[in-house]
Amino acid sequence: MKGVYNRKHTFSIPEGIPPVNESQDIGGTMNSDPQSLSLSGLQGLIRTMYSSKDEQRGVDGTFMWLMEEVGELAAALREGTPKELAYEFADVLAWLATIANVAGVDLEQAVMEKYGRGCPGCKQMVCACGVEEKP
Ligand SMILES: [Zn+2]
Repeated sequence: MKGVYNRKHTFSIPEGIPPVNESQDIGGTMNSDPQSLSLSGLQGLIRTMYSSKDEQRGVDGTFMWLMEEVGELAAALREGTPKELAYEFADVLAWLATIANVAGVDLEQAVMEKYGRGCPGCKQMVCACGVEEKP
């Protein structure tokens, strides 16, 4: 799956903030002490940690783990502590990034294309779709 991902950073770095040291940039926007993480950076982080396991597991096996984590998120929404809830959100996002890696999908590019210019339904930045519609 090497070479599939678009590692182009689409955000701009505000003036006064030094760029990431490229020698530490081992996965998208990842560095040794990340203060923030883009979607590309998240996919790079997950790829660095888990890519060999993920490729063995494949999309179907990885999807099962995502569903398990979604179930854990549902439980945490009902009765988890704030920290447990936050970590379940992190797990679901991490497994979503994992599947995207295995399937060769660039999440940042996909989200920007689909939502970056407004609601996919009504094209407005503040959605004006009816409440009974999905968006
Ligand atoms: Zn809308």
